[in-house]
Amino acid sequence: MSTLKAVRGTRDLLPPETALWNRIEATARAVFARYNFGEIRTPIFEDTGLFARGVGEETDIVSKEMYTWEDKARAQSEKSQTLTLRPENTAGVVRAYIEHKLGETGQLQKLYYIGPQFRRERPQKGRYRQFSQIGAEVIGPPSAGSESPVRDAEVLEMLATLLNELGITGWTLNINSVGSAADRAKYNETLRAALVPVVGLMCQDCQRRAVTNPLRVLDCKVPEDQPIIETLPVIADSLDEDSKKHFAAVTAALDAAAVPYTRNHRLVRGLDYYTRTTFEFTHGGLGAQNALLGGGRYDGLSELIGGPKAPGIGFAIGEDRLVLTLLAQESAAPQVLADAFIAPLGESLNPAALALAQQLRHAGLRIELGEGSFRLKKSFEAADKTARKIVILGEDELQSGILTVKDFATGNQTKVPRAELAAFLAKSDIV
Ligand code: AMP
Repeated sequence: MSTLKAVRGTRDLLPPETALWNRIEATARAVFARYNFGEIRTPIFEDTGLFARGVGEETDIVSKEMYTWEDKARAQSEKSQTLTLRPENTAGVVRAYIEHKLGETGQLQKLYYIGPQFRRERPQKGRYRQFSQIGAEVIGPPSAGSESPVRDAEVLEMLATLLNELGITGWTLNINSVGSAADRAKYNETLRAALVPVVGLMCQDCQRRAVTNPLRVLDCKVPEDQPIIETLPVIADSLDEDSKKHFAAVTAALDAAAVPYTRNHRLVRGLDYYTRTTFEFTHGGLGAQNALLGGGRYDGLSELIGGPKAPGIGFAIGEDRLVLTLLAQESAAPQVLADAFIAPLGESLNPAALALAQQLRHAGLRIELGEGSFRLKKSFEAADKTARKIVILGEDELQSGILTVKDFATGNQTKVPRAELAAFLAKSDIV
């Protein structure tokens, strides 16, 4: 029988690396809480129509990358439905916002999520078919101030704070404005016209995009096409006065908070729903897939999926890429050592060892429980790999209540009364 393996583009995450994932998520939750965000959890699959309408039929995600299946009706009362594993989470959050009438509170909704997303992409380093995003959305009725440029700047400042608190150094914030839907339509036409004389020299994808969605030409990574793309008109020249003012207000607020950024005229992002501010944080250490996170404003998205006017701004961080960046910086995920390894001397001492482990764990210590059938040498070897100290538990120790503890870092061996053991193990000898 052939051995079964994790499906191409999916991965198992194992300790000690999972400790890093947990640290990232705990830091993100703590930072989001300080900015007064609450968590939202939406289903992992949704009606396909949500993504077709919300993300856009013409995007790579919807046209090529979705995991979609026909969910057959199981009873006469049910209808069969076409479902899709979520390729991103913004559409789901906006659907939930509409479904639960969150706009009727009159308040801004500040929601964050952490969870898996699915895209049938060509797997490579930093690009997987199941990957995890940490994202947030600020959305609400215009009366709640949801269109204000200060919301954009606040989200960007929060991201800079999060990356800094995670210890990610050397990130770059690229921002741009793709204007209103009308500005984009105007720019699309300008671009379409500008492409006519040159598109014949470009890659197959660009030839297709030039007809279906000229804006996407700016995403092209084919080296030979780059000099041509550099000569194309920029979207900044198609923005109306309101969009220009909005963008200037975003950058003024970023300046006030000393958040560094670069304007990147080609940043139009892969999803159709963006309006005005778009942004991406990149990191040099990631190689070809250098985007740590991306996001932007999506003022028309709610209406696109049948909801009320609800401007918003959000982002999605590629958690896999945060992990890769931190691993490259720290050279390896830190091995988490237990505070102590308990070595029972003989199988008959296994129950007493379990009771001792229970007592120490209740005191908040991280304890590895050994096995009484091991020779002492084998217990020492196992303990040295997994714990900072070893506690030896033989008949004598059990009777006298005095335990022998050896510290691997210092080599010191100490006799410790059972009542003082937890306190002794909690303090580190390394000063
Ligand atoms: P997007 O939803 O395409 O704007 O992506 C937001 C972020 O998610 C990107 O900047 C990446 O960090 C991450 N990301 C997107 N697609 C993948 C993928 N296939 N594998 C890993 N990370 C991804």
